[in-house]
Amino acid sequence: MLFLIGLSLINLPKVQDKLLDIGLERIAFNTQPFLDDVDTLKVVVCGSRAPLPAPGRAETCLLVEAGDDIYIFDMGNGSANNIQQYQVQWPNVKGIFITHMHSDHMADLPDAHLFSWIQGRNAPLKVYGPKGINLVTKGFELAYSADYQYRNLHHGDEMLPMSISGYDAITIKNDKAIENETPGLEILPFAVNHEPVNHAFGFKVVYKDRSLVISGDTINDGSVQKYSQDVDLLIHSAISIDLVERVRKISPLPQLDKILFDIQDYHTTIKEAGEIARDANVKHLLIYHSIPTPQTSIMEKVFFRPIDNIFNEYTLSNDGTRVIMPVGSDEILIDEIN
Ligand SMILES: [Zn+2]
Ligand SMILES: [Zn+2]
Repeated sequence: MLFLIGLSLINLPKVQDKLLDIGLERIAFNTQPFLDDVDTLKVVVCGSRAPLPAPGRAETCLLVEAGDDIYIFDMGNGSANNIQQYQVQWPNVKGIFITHMHSDHMADLPDAHLFSWIQGRNAPLKVYGPKGINLVTKGFELAYSADYQYRNLHHGDEMLPMSISGYDAITIKNDKAIENETPGLEILPFAVNHEPVNHAFGFKVVYKDRSLVISGDTINDGSVQKYSQDVDLLIHSAISIDLVERVRKISPLPQLDKILFDIQDYHTTIKEAGEIARDANVKHLLIYHSIPTPQTSIMEKVFFRPIDNIFNEYTLSNDGTRVIMPVGSDEILIDEIN
């Protein structure tokens, strides 16, 4: 009876208006406690998948927060939307790093440009990347030149000044720390092997007494292990040869069959990622850019089967997986903000 009354009430415009108000507030201003009072090194996965499609996941993106400052590592398709949903304040974003110039690591730079412009960035968007990153940003500037002008004309110079449209591209160098404005923070790029991509980087990030390494896309060439020695968190891309081969067997398309074969020679396998974590004595292994991304618990079990007896302190990241490492402690707290 109550259920029937409820059903009829929901047809009343007044009730609809009230419910809509409540719902809209939750949807539009669902503020996550992103910045808090505790000094931490924090990671939020803003894109957890590689190019192979997986529902509910954006392509590669990691948001690293050191104190109050934010640095973004890669901006794959869908990641800018996630960053908006996480209520990230763009003025706190001090730089975007592109590990290498594959599309799944940089397709959302134009949306990052737009959102940060609207939120009051005071200079062109800083993008750090390998040799050639300036051609990428020049290309985006050319492709979006009409968009910049339309938005400037519509919203005005005060809101969207043309003087700060576009990018500030900075080429990064192997093993040379990135100058930054965050006290206690060191960002160190290191070359990795992702041939035929001839300029690809991983990153080591140290904030006060906490540390993490981001592998980028790479084969297991020893670099990630070298830089990961004793870090708190290793964030590693990984491929499951077992799962990829199973997908290949049922693939109806010859093109997909070839792609699934080719990608096996320039990524680190999940077994190797486990061995690196064990041998480098890292505290926790966070898998991102998983190939293919497990979409069921059975797939996840099979994905991680090769490291069952190698390394057990691991997490498969989703979009919104957050890792919090408070300064002055050994704690590693992991939750989901979605
Ligand atoms: Zn990739
Ligand atoms: Zn790649």
